[in-house]
Amino acid sequence: MSMKDLFAGAVITTRVKEVVAWGRKNSLWPMPYATACCGIEFMGTVSSYFDISRFGAELVRFSPRQADLLIVLGTINYKQAPILKRIYEQMCEPKWVISAGACASSGGFYDNYSVIQGIDELIPVDVYVPGCPPRPEAILNGVMKIQEKIVAEARGKVVAA
Ligand code: SF4
Repeated sequence: MSMKDLFAGAVITTRVKEVVAWGRKNSLWPMPYATACCGIEFMGTVSSYFDISRFGAELVRFSPRQADLLIVLGTINYKQAPILKRIYEQMCEPKWVISAGACASSGGFYDNYSVIQGIDELIPVDVYVPGCPPRPEAILNGVMKIQEKIVAEARGKVVAA
């Protein structure tokens, strides 16, 4: 059935904000910042088996200027902190951050002098994905949470991380 037949005689109303949010949520441009084992799970997440393109997020970028979804995977130490912060700042608005795995979210079991005890000490985090490592399904769930947040924010709702 063509779109013309589907909507024949119908009037659809919406708001510009909703249409923009619909476009944004279905065309996320992720940039992985992977430093350790969790990064391997991200490779699985973007593989054909798990098919992240179902969520419109298959175009992985390695330039922050071309990305709107930063996915941090792995241990972040103090030496890397300025780099991660700078990458975040180079991303254009609107932008979102997923902290994937125990190390990115809390330092994991690396509770020592050199490791940041959660990237939210450096940059704002929208979604935390638990796990050591999180399975690809969990990372995809994080992407879906970002999509929900984009829609909710367009409707004026405040969504906690
Ligand atoms: S959370 Fe676990 S799997 Fe992920 S980087 Fe840390 S130790 Fe590795």
